[in-house]
Amino acid sequence: MSAANAVNIDAVVIGGGPAGSAAARLLTTWGHDVVVLTTTPDRSRGLAESLPPSTQRVLAEVGVLDAVDAAGFYRSTGNTSCWASRERRVETFGSLGYQIFRPDFDRLLLDRAAAAGADVREGTRVGAVHVADDGVRVDYTLNGRPSSTSAQLVIDCSGRAGVVARRLREYEPAYRTYAIVGVWRSDDGWELSDETHTVVETFEHGWAWSVPVDRSTRHVGAMVDGTSPRSATGRELEAAYRGEIAKTVEMRRLLGGAGLLRVFACDASLYWSRAYAGPRFLLAGDAASFIDPLSSFGVKKALASAWMAAVTAHTCLLHPDRRPVAVDFFSNWERQVYAASLRHSRDFARQASERHPHPFWAARAGVDVPLQDDMDAPDVRAAFERIKGASSIVFRLADDVRLEKAAVIRDHEIVVEDAFPGIRFFENVDLVKLAHIACQHTRVPDVFDAYCRAQSPAPLPSVIAGLCLLVTKGILQARA
Ligand SMILES: Cc1cc2nc3c(=O)[nH]c(=O)nc-3n(C[C@H](O)[C@H](O)[C@H](O)COP(=O)(O)OP(=O)(O)OC[C@H]3O[C@@H](n4cnc5c(N)ncnc54)[C@H](O)[C@@H]3O)c2cc1C
Repeated sequence: MSAANAVNIDAVVIGGGPAGSAAARLLTTWGHDVVVLTTTPDRSRGLAESLPPSTQRVLAEVGVLDAVDAAGFYRSTGNTSCWASRERRVETFGSLGYQIFRPDFDRLLLDRAAAAGADVREGTRVGAVHVADDGVRVDYTLNGRPSSTSAQLVIDCSGRAGVVARRLREYEPAYRTYAIVGVWRSDDGWELSDETHTVVETFEHGWAWSVPVDRSTRHVGAMVDGTSPRSATGRELEAAYRGEIAKTVEMRRLLGGAGLLRVFACDASLYWSRAYAGPRFLLAGDAASFIDPLSSFGVKKALASAWMAAVTAHTCLLHPDRRPVAVDFFSNWERQVYAASLRHSRDFARQASERHPHPFWAARAGVDVPLQDDMDAPDVRAAFERIKGASSIVFRLADDVRLEKAAVIRDHEIVVEDAFPGIRFFENVDLVKLAHIACQHTRVPDVFDAYCRAQSPAPLPSVIAGLCLLVTKGILQARA
């Protein structure tokens, strides 16, 4: 089958959420013709969500940071947490996070994609996607009328709907969760030391969160076992919601005196994909995987995933010979992000299961996640302590070090460069460059300064961690 009759555009992006808008904006900015096909979301089911301050970096990469800052979203100074404890723990960010009402945030990002030149077609619902060797054809309805578009490749950013992704999807059996969310209003403020905070609390068989969108409105969700109760609506759903909130302590206290405006439910089950990309398709954001909302990293991960997908698509469009390497690189990145996030959730569930001996927590605490992060290994930890504490240290490259080819990103493209076997970067630190710089100095602070001058500024712990990995893998020899 030839799917790509009369291909005249480079990429079709399905979905106009954060991932779709970011991918479309980036690809358009880099000179590609992009069509975005997206349904019009239902504002009444729009969520309030927290974005940590660290989201600013990827917002800047996408070219929307100034617009987001100017939009006047409610800013937060931190979190108040009663996780596995009755004590309120107050965590303060160094800088300000964002409390966003998603329909407003999504509108802003989609407008920025259109402003960059993407052809945004709202009110479209994509039905079938035909992926062939020479391109893709995407069938959709626009205001009820059938139509189709052909392109070189498709990026599925349709979130949980997963137009392309759902046939590759695997649910995390221990994390079948649904969220029942209430929107509350109080004109007399909220009983909190800082009203801008996100609040989280565990209870016997679930957890609850509260995110403000302005001084008088907060969304409060209860996360409980199961998938979305599609049959429950109206009074039935409100009764179920009030029943869950009644089991909390902090949320009940917070909501005393507030009025409930509306309730809705949505699926919040965790999932991943058996494949994240092929020569003509990429899955980005929630279409690729869904991470625990507890992390508050869903939007940040969707934006980062979109950036990676855009880099991968850009590479495939300009250099078809690099498609296999690019697809592999992207897929590994998605796999690692999901595994790291699942490990984090599992660790939080372990804390909760010690306080709440209920199957909800026991199942989540028992999830088996392969160890991927090299920094967790005991020998790397030992090297870390040794290097961090040494007043003077001599590094030299081991005699038998050999280099192999590995994929890296340079100027928005995936290229193949020399790397040490199995490791090229650690937390953005270029390990090949670091190894050579380390051999020219005898103090870790000097290695750090020289690396930051020669490359780009990096956090000190990341540079030390990079040195430790090189030592543990036998690439660098260190003598204190
Ligand atoms: C209860 C809950 C709380 C959360 N809290 C947070 C939080 O505090 N902080 C945070 O960062 N993240 C949070 N998240 C996660 C966050 O919502 C997602 O990670 C984020 O929405 C992912 O963005 P996306 O662009 O990948 O997908 P989406 O935002 O889901 O966008 C998908 C887009 O595709 C469109 N679409 C769907 N089907 C079709 C189709 N057939 N044709 C055309 N278009 C289609 C949709 O209209 C939508 O515009 C939470 C999630 C849940 C469920």
